[in-house]
Amino acid sequence: MNIKKGDNVKMLSGKDRGKTGAVVKVTPSTGRIMIEGLNVFKKHSRPTKQGQKGQMVEVSRSVNASNVMVICPSCKAPVRVGHRVEGNRNVRFCKKCKSII
Ligand SMILES: [Zn+2]
Repeated sequence: MNIKKGDNVKMLSGKDRGKTGAVVKVTPSTGRIMIEGLNVFKKHSRPTKQGQKGQMVEVSRSVNASNVMVICPSCKAPVRVGHRVEGNRNVRFCKKCKSII
């Protein structure tokens, strides 16, 4: 997967298409990521105890990693990400400006 926690990404689909946000959670096994403040849905909760009110809570839903693009920190644009081996480390790089992300 091309995305890591803390990356700034741009949404390519869904109702938040075009918006950007920081990745707060990555689940590599399912290929899904969670973006702060994006893909927010209202969740209705019923009162579980007596005297407690039912309410609507806004929660972020995860999106598939293929629906976002990483924003390159040096060229500030949504870019495709490549991988290469540098020394004995695997690094990600921007396919546009070739700098390491
Ligand atoms: Zn770049």
